[in-house]
Amino acid sequence: MSRDGNAVLNNGQGQKAVVLLSGGLDSATTLAMACDAGYACFALSFDYGQRHSPELTAAARIAQKWEVAQHKVISLDLGAIGGSALTDSSIDVPTAGATGGIPVTYVPARNTVFLSFALGWAEVLEAGHIFIGVNAVDYSGYPDCRPEYINAFQHMANLATRAGVEGSGIRIHTPLIHLSKAQIIRRGQDLGVDYGTTISCYNPDDAGSACGICDSCRLRAEGFHAAAVADPTRYQTSP
Ligand code: ZN
Repeated sequence: MSRDGNAVLNNGQGQKAVVLLSGGLDSATTLAMACDAGYACFALSFDYGQRHSPELTAAARIAQKWEVAQHKVISLDLGAIGGSALTDSSIDVPTAGATGGIPVTYVPARNTVFLSFALGWAEVLEAGHIFIGVNAVDYSGYPDCRPEYINAFQHMANLATRAGVEGSGIRIHTPLIHLSKAQIIRRGQDLGVDYGTTISCYNPDDAGSACGICDSCRLRAEGFHAAAVADPTRYQTSP
């Protein structure tokens, strides 16, 4: 199914992997795939000042369900630099659909920050693998979700680390990168992911119920529809 996926993923054999876990649909599926492939998974989440902080509760539930070796939540305040509807409360989350270009829900350099922490933790753990659930097919125009970006980070990672210079390097895995949202959902369903516990909404209420109208909610709902899978999302109002 996945070009990166199956060739690599059947080969975990208990090797340690750091898995970025936001609590959303994509990262939950990525964690399930890494666990299923036999990696010893160390989940990493960030409390970064996101307005959708209920996703951290979701991340904790997902990490528990997959019995990860450890779940670490790192606090860092990306709101201090702002520049995104997700970290600056003065910028509204758009609800009118894609308008072309990079949307205001892009968080400046977020994946670079997150992958850098994952890289550092992987070195400390002596883990040779990092998993991130970026997706280039149904993606929302984020430049740090593209294969070119991941390839560049991979190159940098092996130049920047002791593991890269003296060891066997750290491999970045992106098993979802060429999958559609519907394919991701079907793959996760096969592996037993409970999507009712995941939160994708950019602007959920305090209880974690989804708005149904932000870009992330739309993409998610379209994915369930295209996959012909019942959408378990709890909505504040009907989408
Ligand atoms: Zn939403």
